[in-house]
Amino acid sequence: MQFVRYAVDGSPQWGIKRNDAVVPLGVREDVSVSDLDNPGFHRVVERAVAAEDRSIPIEEVTLLAPVPRPGKIICAGLNYHDHAEEQDEEVPERPLLFGKAPTAVTNPDDPIVHPDGIEEVDYEVELGVVVGRTAKDVETEEAREYVAGYTVVNDVSARDAQFADGQFLRGKSYDTFAPMGPTIVPDAFLDPNSLDVACRVNGETKQESNTNQFIFDVDELIAYISGAMTLRPGDIISTGTPGGVGIFRDPPELLEPGDVVETEIAGIGTLTNPVVEE
Ligand code: MG
Repeated sequence: MQFVRYAVDGSPQWGIKRNDAVVPLGVREDVSVSDLDNPGFHRVVERAVAAEDRSIPIEEVTLLAPVPRPGKIICAGLNYHDHAEEQDEEVPERPLLFGKAPTAVTNPDDPIVHPDGIEEVDYEVELGVVVGRTAKDVETEEAREYVAGYTVVNDVSARDAQFADGQFLRGKSYDTFAPMGPTIVPDAFLDPNSLDVACRVNGETKQESNTNQFIFDVDELIAYISGAMTLRPGDIISTGTPGGVGIFRDPPELLEPGDVVETEIAGIGTLTNPVVEE
């Protein structure tokens, strides 16, 4: 079951995506992400789906980021074996965490703005975990109970800022540097630790892997992060990217205005964003 947040005539709503249509749920934007893991809410969804005649062709809606204003975005670095290898980095003993500003979130199909004064804008396909319940000090075994669902995040990165600063916050946080969507899928409907992930630029595959290559899986990340800080509904954990990023290609292949980036995760969908000049 793929939930979508979308707009028709400018008003944001929730629906589910089925084939090439959106089935409206008849509920407004104030639905909380915790509803997505609620059996009562799923019954509302089932009723909406049964009403076939309400579906809208997907090309008639504007898809929106499922979590437009996350409380925080916690990212894992170096979390795929192949991405650690391409940098000649040792596999870390514990997750390497950094932050990305929540204001970087942007919608499916909206542009990634290539900032003035930045030379090295890069793509990173990542599985995004949307927190559904307040979590602190949770055990690995129970971690998935705190998940609302999964989405695709493109952890767009200004490498020159990232390397010049010696830490990641600025380089990861330019406005539009967190495209998110196109759907959010509750934990009950997929296994986050076994999903094909891919990134294409102008149709050419740049990253291709599977989340079974995680160094720390979703359960371990939630347990580890919640041991350090409280996770709240609507927080996002971006779980790291596989090998093939632009900066470590020889020669580097970075994003330029005019490029189109597609980030895809099996069962969630493909997030498409053009790159534009500031
Ligand atoms: Mg990343």
